Amino acid sequence: MSSERKPIKRIVIAGGGTAGWMVAAALSKTLGKLLDIKLIESDEIGTVGVGEATIPTLLTFHSLLEINEQEFMAATQATFKLGISFENWRDRGQDYIHSFGLTGKDHWTAGFQHFWLKGRERGLAGEYGDYCLELKAAQQSKFAHLPRAGMNYAFHLDATLYAKYLRKFSEGFGVQRIEGKITEVALAGENIAALRLDSGALIEGDLFIDCTGFRGLLIGEALGVGYEDWSHWLACDSAVALQTVSTGPALPYTRSIAHAAGWQWRIPLQHRVGNGLVYASKHIDDEQAKQALLANVEGEALTQPRVLRFQPGQRHQTWRANCVAIGLSSGFLEPLESTSIHLIQRGITRLLQMFPSKGICPADIAEYNQQSRNEIEHIRDFIVLHYHVTQRQDSAFWRHCREMSIPASLRHRIDLFRETARVFRVPNELFAENSWIQVMLGQGILPQQHHQVADLMGDAELARFLNSIRQQVDQTVVQLPAHQAYVESYCRVA
Ligand code: FAD
Repeated sequence: MSSERKPIKRIVIAGGGTAGWMVAAALSKTLGKLLDIKLIESDEIGTVGVGEATIPTLLTFHSLLEINEQEFMAATQATFKLGISFENWRDRGQDYIHSFGLTGKDHWTAGFQHFWLKGRERGLAGEYGDYCLELKAAQQSKFAHLPRAGMNYAFHLDATLYAKYLRKFSEGFGVQRIEGKITEVALAGENIAALRLDSGALIEGDLFIDCTGFRGLLIGEALGVGYEDWSHWLACDSAVALQTVSTGPALPYTRSIAHAAGWQWRIPLQHRVGNGLVYASKHIDDEQAKQALLANVEGEALTQPRVLRFQPGQRHQTWRANCVAIGLSSGFLEPLESTSIHLIQRGITRLLQMFPSKGICPADIAEYNQQSRNEIEHIRDFIVLHYHVTQRQDSAFWRHCREMSIPASLRHRIDLFRETARVFRVPNELFAENSWIQVMLGQGILPQQHHQVADLMGDAELARFLNSIRQQVDQTVVQLPAHQAYVESYCRVA
């Protein structure tokens, strides 16, 4: 009964990693005047300390928060990111870029890929990526802000500095930070009543946001919400991370380099490079992973290699009673397409849209959980695609990935594209058609057919159409400054 519902005024955020501080920033900026917001974090426990590659949706988050981009980039040693270079994924020695841009121009009945396939068949087309501004700019290490949202981009950022930046932001909007270790979660019936700290203090609240990382101290340990394991689709369950000095200009893209039992990331920041090897512990042990990473980094190490363990999957419910899990406590796929910070942002947006000011309503909880589930499942399929569609057979890991069964939803997408070159974005899905096409082509699927509308173009017309797009891309890229020089001048904040 709504008359029995308790109004929500006191918010307690447990955990101060990227998730905790993003939640604090967004809640305090939008509803801060109506709420009392506390954030508890423990310096002794620390944060996961990785999570440095983002996707373009972060710009929306920053614009909602009215964050000044230059100030943010200077504070977090950020660089621009135009996409991800997938190296040795399709097969050893074969690379492609999944860029954030659009490729070519679509016709209302058929996407650009149909015209490109026709052009390719007639020897009139270049590489698929030749028709994408962001991809060509990435290849040439160039970047600039262009008018009318001319380039789609994201950032590489220092996760520790980002949390610090958001802390200052949130405290400016009244968030109270409490240092301490949570030692007990006090329940009142199905709800959480308060958190007990090692100092003995009791922090009471109406709504608790679990941002305690993989442990899921509130949602998992206290409320008993279980976890759905996806390791049969995502074999990697470990990572070793290491920071190194920069040895050259920062690239405007993340490098994802496939190895025998996983893949390696390289994330260039202004002041250093973030490196890591994501691997399947069933196939190599931690020591082998450390050695593989150390043998493949450029530049002197700034930190010791650090092993992290994770379980790919999601919580059965991300909102239960008066507790909402955001960040790693709600689930984690793996870092391949840099989607975790995006999922944090989506969790925050959803919570704001359904904010239970007048009391928590079961219909909101059900809606929130359903939306969270749909969202992460689409991303899961997209990530599984990279592993499954490969020609690699050089290790037990890749043979497993090729042979494993995949979700039916992904099977359908692959079959549809292979046979007809068609891709349809599901409502509210993160990755649009062009992302699916870039990765499916990049991983080696060449569709058997294309739409008939492309056949209606004669050779001359098709060549003119394709060349005009390519020339426009080339002419724009040639005028762009080098990414490194652009970052240096842009971040020289007065
Ligand atoms: P954490 O950073 O673990 O923070 C947990 C917080 O809870 C800490 O402040 C901790 O002190 C606090 N806490 C825990 N227990 C207690 C307690 N008992 N008392 C008090 N406080 C407590 N995401 C991306 O978007 N892009 C990437 O490139 C990317 N790469 C990744 C690579 C790897 C190997 C991994 C594992 C993850 C990666 N992620 C990436 C995910 C990303 O790191 C996380 O989504 C993000 O950092 C948010 O983490 P979090 O805040 O949920 O958890």
